[in-house]
Amino acid sequence: MDTFERSKHITDTQVVITLRGIGELRPANANTRVSLAAETDEFNMPRAFVSIQPGAEDNTLWDATDRASDDTALVFAGGQPYEVLTEGSFIGVAAGQRAQTVLPFTTGRRDGLGTTHHEAGTLAAGTSSHLVTNADARFHEVNNLYATGPAVFPSVGSPNPMLTGTALARRLADKLAQFTPTVPEPGFTALFDGTSLSGWAMSTIRNQPGRDDSGRFMLIDGALQAITGTDIGLLWNTTPTPADFVLKLEWRTWRAYDNSGVFLRFLTIHSVPVFGYYGVRSVKQECLRMLVLFGEGSLRRALTEHIAHFHQERNHQGKRNLPLFPSPETPLAKSRAFRRTERLGGLLNFYSCAA
Ligand SMILES: Cc1cc2nc3c(=O)[nH]c(=O)nc-3n(C[C@H](O)[C@H](O)[C@H](O)COP(=O)(O)OP(=O)(O)OC[C@H]3O[C@@H](n4cnc5c(N)ncnc54)[C@H](O)[C@@H]3O)c2cc1C
Repeated sequence: MDTFERSKHITDTQVVITLRGIGELRPANANTRVSLAAETDEFNMPRAFVSIQPGAEDNTLWDATDRASDDTALVFAGGQPYEVLTEGSFIGVAAGQRAQTVLPFTTGRRDGLGTTHHEAGTLAAGTSSHLVTNADARFHEVNNLYATGPAVFPSVGSPNPMLTGTALARRLADKLAQFTPTVPEPGFTALFDGTSLSGWAMSTIRNQPGRDDSGRFMLIDGALQAITGTDIGLLWNTTPTPADFVLKLEWRTWRAYDNSGVFLRFLTIHSVPVFGYYGVRSVKQECLRMLVLFGEGSLRRALTEHIAHFHQERNHQGKRNLPLFPSPETPLAKSRAFRRTERLGGLLNFYSCAA
């Protein structure tokens, strides 16, 4: 596209080959910089001006690049006369003669500096402390802030930058995705370090036909991913908890009701097989479906009511149809008169024989 205007008069008798030399300016040249000018833009902000001033080494490289183009042209010419296409016309060059003789290394042959450039290097990466980011494109002074794209190039040539920018972004993503096992903070014990499910087990319901697939949790890149079964899918830690403790954890849910949360001080699950099933499922499916909870206080109240109901009042198949921990006020003697006690406005009901 750059040479379209120049090339549109070419006929079928001509073959045009464009030779383009691309060089890179030496870095850390004080005369090449971006500065804010006194002139302001439409937002009344100072305009940024780019100054590019090649040094002696840059000019040497530029001459060498042009000589290499001439050498290449001679190879293509194959010992024959050839023509150099300029802005307005063709200039003939004798066999074996360098293009420089008709087209000196000056304006007209050379693009101006800055006519082909890409913005880059504002967050240049490297080991030197004067650069903004380190070799992993992490900001030197910040532990968890990274940059990506051409901004991290320590220098940039004329070639298009996106492929390199994309490659660097992928390199950074690979690095960030690498998993390192969790190391507990001082005073804490890791219940799950991201590498093993040792000490964890899936709950199982043993007395409900058709609910015998407990589901499982897969360990993927240091995280647990739940695979649904027909059971409640409860993963529990088999290590006895101390009398008092502080629990720290990280989790992620994709949808609001995907997770029942963390149950603390749970009874040993296999000793009361149906407790887990009814307890967890009722809270999740009955309570949350039928109650709108406003903050922690109302959630605590609902859970307290559920726990009291399922522990003291509801009879459990796995316990020979007896409550787990019958309340002393709950007479179990048979009688013809029954009493109904409500919890949570009738969401939970408990029937007992009248005294
Ligand atoms: C006309 C043109 C043609 C080009 N052609 C090519 C080509 O053919 N091949 C090639 O490899 N490269 C090409 N480039 C260069 C290439 O597009 C850029 O190098 C590349 O897009 C830079 O990627 P980046 O992610 O660093 O920045 P950008 O693509 O500029 O992305 C920065 C993003 O940040 C957003 N942003 C800025 N400020 C804020 C803020 N405060 N809050 C939130 N978001 C913000 C911007 O809206 C933008 O979406 C071309 C560039 C231009 C201008």
